[in-house]
Amino acid sequence: MRLTKLKLAGFKSFVDPTAVALPGQLVGVVGPNGCGKSNIMDAVRWVLGESKASELRGESMQDVIFNGSTNRKPVSRASVELIFDNSLGRALGQWSQYAELSVKRVLTRTGQSDYFINNLKVRRKDITDLFLGTGLGPRAYAIIGQGMISRIIEAKPDDLRVFLEEAAGVTRYKERRKETQGR
Ligand code: ATP
Ligand code: MG
Repeated sequence: MRLTKLKLAGFKSFVDPTAVALPGQLVGVVGPNGCGKSNIMDAVRWVLGESKASELRGESMQDVIFNGSTNRKPVSRASVELIFDNSLGRALGQWSQYAELSVKRVLTRTGQSDYFINNLKVRRKDITDLFLGTGLGPRAYAIIGQGMISRIIEAKPDDLRVFLEEAAGVTRYKERRKETQGR
């Protein structure tokens, strides 16, 4: 699966609906300090299920919703959608049949948080299941953030094992075993 497009609205500094195309294998995002480059990566990790506000550089989860600027009022909801090319049918289970997959998360100021796959309302777990073992996830290694390399170098053996198991693709089986054992 390859991430081909990102659509944001009301997310951090991206108040107006914005589509970011990711053509080709390598895409660079450049711009002055504070223009929103890191917010794009925050958006990707947010859709994938990040539930800790501090991991998204905020104090509460509602901090991802555009909170106004000198000439714009705050908005009441944030939404981010990721479009994946799944033409090779690599997505697991019922999702393998779709050539394109849309994964979306919406949050309102009242705290309502919803996830969707191809516009079908799903649980957060369905999103994490979809990417488990692929290296893509809110904290998986497909996204290498600032400080992550030193985090890996300094990791305790147990934490390092989590990275290695994800790279080896065994996380999903461990997760399934846990489920069947009712843990
Ligand atoms: P740098 O080059 O310094 O790393 P950057 O391009 O990565 O900068 P970001 O950190 O992505 O910049 O964006 C920071 C900007 O996003 C700030 O101007 C901040 O005010 C704005 N911002 C963050 N959260 C919100 C929000 N909820 N509502 C409105 N603006 C926000
Ligand atoms: Mg930045």
